[in-house]
Amino acid sequence: MSDTISRPTGAQRGRPDGFGGKVLRAGDPAYDEARVVFNAMIDKRPGMIAQCESAADVAAAVRYGVAEGLEIAVRGGGHSVAGSSVTDGGIVIDLRKMTSVQVDPDARLARVAGGATWANLDSACQPYWLATTGGRVSTTGVAGLTLGGGSGWLERKFGLACDSLVSVELITADGQLVIADETRNTELFWALHGGGGNFGVATSLTFKLRPLTSMTIAMLFWPADAGVEVTRRYRDLIEAGAPEELGGGVFYLTGPPEDFVPLHLQGERLIGVAALYAGTEAETREAIAPMLDLNPEGIMIDELPYVAIQSALDDPPGFRNYWSAEHLNEFPDVAIKAFSDRAAEMPYPSPSQQMAVPWGGAVARDAKKWPLPHRTAAWVIHPFGVWADEADDERGIRWAKDVCDDLKPWATGAVYLNFIGDEGQDRVIAGFGQENYDRLRQVKSELDPDNVFHLNQNIRPA
Ligand SMILES: Cc1cc2nc3c(=O)[nH]c(=O)nc-3n(C[C@H](O)[C@H](O)[C@H](O)COP(=O)(O)OP(=O)(O)OC[C@H]3O[C@@H](n4cnc5c(N)ncnc54)[C@H](O)[C@@H]3O)c2cc1C
Repeated sequence: MSDTISRPTGAQRGRPDGFGGKVLRAGDPAYDEARVVFNAMIDKRPGMIAQCESAADVAAAVRYGVAEGLEIAVRGGGHSVAGSSVTDGGIVIDLRKMTSVQVDPDARLARVAGGATWANLDSACQPYWLATTGGRVSTTGVAGLTLGGGSGWLERKFGLACDSLVSVELITADGQLVIADETRNTELFWALHGGGGNFGVATSLTFKLRPLTSMTIAMLFWPADAGVEVTRRYRDLIEAGAPEELGGGVFYLTGPPEDFVPLHLQGERLIGVAALYAGTEAETREAIAPMLDLNPEGIMIDELPYVAIQSALDDPPGFRNYWSAEHLNEFPDVAIKAFSDRAAEMPYPSPSQQMAVPWGGAVARDAKKWPLPHRTAAWVIHPFGVWADEADDERGIRWAKDVCDDLKPWATGAVYLNFIGDEGQDRVIAGFGQENYDRLRQVKSELDPDNVFHLNQNIRPA
């Protein structure tokens, strides 16, 4: 055979046996749109995109990928900042057509298909005024976010998203359907509370729901030079024992062109406080009174159904993204000064944000029960870099790394892996702690000894 003619790979020909969905390849009119992910820095060309419509399709696609020796990527909402849901040359198991949500309001349970987004889940739950902790935007995938832990507005009240998991149905690397819950495959069930997509493809997840009859969003803004004072006041408010109903954070940003941002602040460097309160507007005003006393120049407070709040701050796709994170047990004045000084280097103007998110409350409860030990941290520092122009990559990435370096003296060394891209194996281990990582490796070895599912924050088989 000539050197210049190579045999087509399994991704370039054929079709998984018994696969009922659509298969896309380069040249197909829908291919280019289907390979795009949220982070515009990622530009990969899969050999095959298998658009699954059922658990049986997922099993067929997994078996095919393994038999053909293809790299397998699993795609839900496409929001992995590292681009782990797409592969060059291999097969993408694309779950975006599997979005069904069944709500049982009497049992307060929701069964969600593996490709659903939070928009799908929250809109199905809203008619019953039921909810569970989801991400801060509606466009992330329920499975990807929850399997990594799942931090969101309601976490201080209801815990991380994974805390409400009742059961998970998973297609494993050998194409078998496995159910994990409190009585079946309990070690796998433990691992699914933060261990990410390492153990298989979740085709359905069942969540416990809670009543949420009122929810309020408050957005407060000041010019950035008030940043130290605002951040200190916010820290004091949280550390004085703010109610668990209060979620959100303090963040540097570029003033967005919104009605509630006065014209003189639009496009300017700002410090903001986002207060998402599981309660009424009056309760919210009372809880954030110390912040209102600082006379924000921009202010919006609105009591809305949770589903509306959940999509109010959706980030636009099509931007270049780089993020990182650190956990702090304390946020003293000197750390606040370092945090604020570095904000001056945030890509500007851009949709980037430099956030400090308070944990505590239900996030910290039962922390030892699950694989994410860092849940006891008081604060999460999260530089969330988002810009349009490739020429800003170096500057933006430098800024995000510098924010973390500056805060290192107060950092626990642990990290929440949903908030970072690919930062190497040591960071993955830091995400679980060595003891939990070793235990996760045992689960991985049993279910995926060949590391078929390795495009993720990877737990290497023992
Ligand atoms: C704008 C934005 C906002 C975000 N906000 C938050 C937030 O508030 N809280 C938070 O915790 N995280 C947040 N994230 C991070 C997000 O949770 C993770 O990137 C998560 O992995 C995204 O899941 P996805 O399905 O959207 O992504 P994808 O890119 O489709 O998937 C990412 C990875 O998740 C795994 N995965 C996805 N679906 C499945 C499945 N059905 N079965 C098994 N594995 C699966 C796979 O390993 C895959 O590689 C945010 C990300 C973005 C871009």
